[in-house]
Amino acid sequence: MSICPFCGWPDTDVYEVVSRHRTPEGETVWTRCACGSLQVRVTGAGVVTRGRPGVGVCQRS
Ligand SMILES: [Zn+2]
Repeated sequence: MSICPFCGWPDTDVYEVVSRHRTPEGETVWTRCACGSLQVRVTGAGVVTRGRPGVGVCQRS
C-alpha cells in the first residue's frame, strides 16, 4: 500500500474526488489529498502522478 509522501495519508483512502475522465485506456480520476496534493489515478494502475501540496500538477492555482 502506498501513502502520500507529504502527509502520510493512505492512497487507498480517497480524500476528495476532483473530477473523472473517461479515456480509451480506462478511467482517469483526479483526487485531492487531505494535505491539498493533487493526484491522478488510473483505473488498475493506482496513483500515476502526484502534485505537491498547494502547487498541483496542472497550472491552475
Ligand atoms: Zn497528502
